[in-house]
Amino acid sequence: MKTMLAARLVCAGEPLRIEEIPVPEPGPDEVLVEVRACGLCGTDLHLAVAGDLPVERTPITLGHEAAGVVAAKGRDAATVREGDRVALFPAASCGACRFCVAGRESLCDRSKVYGMARDGALAEYVAAPARSVIPLPDAIPFDIGAVATDGVATPFHALRTRGALRAGETVGVFGCGGLGTHAVQIARLMGAACVVAVDTDPAALVRASALGADLALDPREADVAREVRRRLGGLDLALECVGAAETVALAVRCLGKGGRAVVVGVGPARPELPPLASFVGREQAVLGSFGMDRRDIEDLYRLVAAGRLDLSASISARYPLAQADAALRRLAGRDGGVVRVVVEPHGELP
Ligand SMILES: [Zn+2]
Ligand SMILES: [Zn+2]
Repeated sequence: MKTMLAARLVCAGEPLRIEEIPVPEPGPDEVLVEVRACGLCGTDLHLAVAGDLPVERTPITLGHEAAGVVAAKGRDAATVREGDRVALFPAASCGACRFCVAGRESLCDRSKVYGMARDGALAEYVAAPARSVIPLPDAIPFDIGAVATDGVATPFHALRTRGALRAGETVGVFGCGGLGTHAVQIARLMGAACVVAVDTDPAALVRASALGADLALDPREADVAREVRRRLGGLDLALECVGAAETVALAVRCLGKGGRAVVVGVGPARPELPPLASFVGREQAVLGSFGMDRRDIEDLYRLVAAGRLDLSASISARYPLAQADAALRRLAGRDGGVVRVVVEPHGELP
């Protein structure tokens, strides 16, 4: 039996364990992907550090943001070939439920997120249904291809599909870490008339400004809602990337008439709505946005390959698989300099 190394979550709050386990055997409709890059994200912190999101079993191999090369495939996996460059859709969606059929894979009834409900990609190899891998264009490196599937696709989905952002609108991004940084770039790309970045970390605000934010505000130093109303008359679209009650409330307070607040951040917080007299009378909306659809990733790859979207500043640090836990700690440190960290189980292969 062939074996491989994998970074396994044994117990939340404890370090990830590098274990030697069997290389997964792809099922008839599955492929085996040799992982070249796997990003880490806030969800991994919830799973492995805070322990406030559940995993189906332990130990489980972490990692849901990955790209690599098809190393083997099952007999029914007709849509891919060995040697194909691919990325993983971050969850193995079923392909058959009414949401999958409608192209809303983020809502799949039988979705199995890698690293939560099935073994993930923080390993030398990962098995995935052939239908849920996405071709990765040659022009896009594996690390960029990996983080685009989640760290970039999540804000893209939130702004485009859920927020229905239209050119000429004003956008606020609350929390400018791994998701919010990309939200600033995408809002610019989609034609926002003004992008306001809000964060308490000066480094995150400097980066957001460098990537196109027109206004950078620190809520500890400025009355953000008053400033936004004074300058813009309120936001058309507010994107909340933190998952805290006070940032959701702040995002809603910054909305103008007809404004939409899209919440991407998750957690146990219970935010409050404003008084109905103002909320209803001003036709405001608060929407949840969860993950992404396959279409979001495909369209992002088109934008990156065409040179429209530059993600070259998105990879803040790279780690070998043996140091996967150090990568996780780096992300957990929440230093504003970090956008995305990636683990490269096969080193810097071409
Ligand atoms: Zn993620
Ligand atoms: Zn489904």
